[in-house]
Amino acid sequence: MTERRDYYQVLDVPRSASPEEIKKAYRRLAMKYHPDRNAGDKEAEARFKEISEAYEVLSDPEKRRLYDQFGHDGLRSAFGPGGFDFARDFTHFSDLQDVLGSLFGGEGGMFEGLFGSRRRRAGRTGPQAGADLRFDLEIDFEEAVFGSQREISLPMTDECDRCKGSGGEPGHQEETCRQCGGRGVVVSSSGFFQVRQTCPICAGRGRIMTHPCRDCDGAGRVKIRRRITLKIPPGVDSGARLRLSGKGEGGVRGGPAGDLYVVLTVKPHDVFERQGNDLYCEAPVTIETAALGGDIQVPTLDGWTRLRIDPGTQTGRIVRLRGRGVPDVEGHGRGDLHVRVVVEVPSALSGAQKKLLKELRDMAQDDNYPSARAWRERVEAFWARKERASNTAAR
Ligand SMILES: [Zn+2]
Ligand SMILES: [Zn+2]
Repeated sequence: MTERRDYYQVLDVPRSASPEEIKKAYRRLAMKYHPDRNAGDKEAEARFKEISEAYEVLSDPEKRRLYDQFGHDGLRSAFGPGGFDFARDFTHFSDLQDVLGSLFGGEGGMFEGLFGSRRRRAGRTGPQAGADLRFDLEIDFEEAVFGSQREISLPMTDECDRCKGSGGEPGHQEETCRQCGGRGVVVSSSGFFQVRQTCPICAGRGRIMTHPCRDCDGAGRVKIRRRITLKIPPGVDSGARLRLSGKGEGGVRGGPAGDLYVVLTVKPHDVFERQGNDLYCEAPVTIETAALGGDIQVPTLDGWTRLRIDPGTQTGRIVRLRGRGVPDVEGHGRGDLHVRVVVEVPSALSGAQKKLLKELRDMAQDDNYPSARAWRERVEAFWARKERASNTAAR
């Protein structure tokens, strides 16, 4: 590295120069060595950086004081260990912009060249795809099983019609933010420290719209409620995701719209329980029918149907009705309906009924209750084993 030149020499001003004189000198030199005026001239670019560095220091009272007192060493903490870095440390873009902006048509080669990838992309101009949206929808059991058509109303943002997404009143363009000179950040100095903040005027964009669109206040987007007719196919279940291509948020400047994903939750039903395409339900049976056998009515998705109850049917028995479940969402037939029999013991009996039941009890035989008999035998076998074990232990 070459020896650092004295900042006053660089700007060609006396040590006693006033801030105005320093600024004037900087403008004159910045214009002369501006890279856009000296395309490809490395020497000019180096000079431009040098005068920018000098101006950065001498235009800041605190930095200038440090420099006057300690020379280049005094600025070690103000700039990084590698010294002044134009892209990082130069904060006077508005001064530069004031002089050069109009000459060179605002942004351009200089900023691209000196900032490289560090430069904030101010103002997006290309087409942008709209965002995908997710909408959670709770549907009734019947809608899920049989399918349905629903009107839903979705809040979303869309490109503003008036400004076509530009955010400006028709005929107006964005301009470089004067506060931050297009950089998106402002830097204030306090002692050795530099405080960097997102530019409060342009919110970090580097550009502002001087005539914001009336309809969207410059956002380029408007909040809308879009009505969408949703077709729910038969057989969907909780967690199903319906994709509606192009029904998400509108794109910007001709970009494609996003997709809408409707995620379904199916409300529980008070008669049927669903597992996949199979349905489960209970059917109460009287003790008379359970004992004697007979027909009962059981519910299906399609209405009542007759179910034969065999004599001696117990609670918990499951009868399967094939093809009476939920239609498969991809059209592969229907699931089954499983009917679980629940024998109900009668209550609120009349005297006559009680009399008959007592007669039945008196006539009961072991064969009438084979389960009870088997259970008793198991219990007795257990007692017997226990008895033998304690006898053996006693010997
Ligand atoms: Zn607008
Ligand atoms: Zn700004």
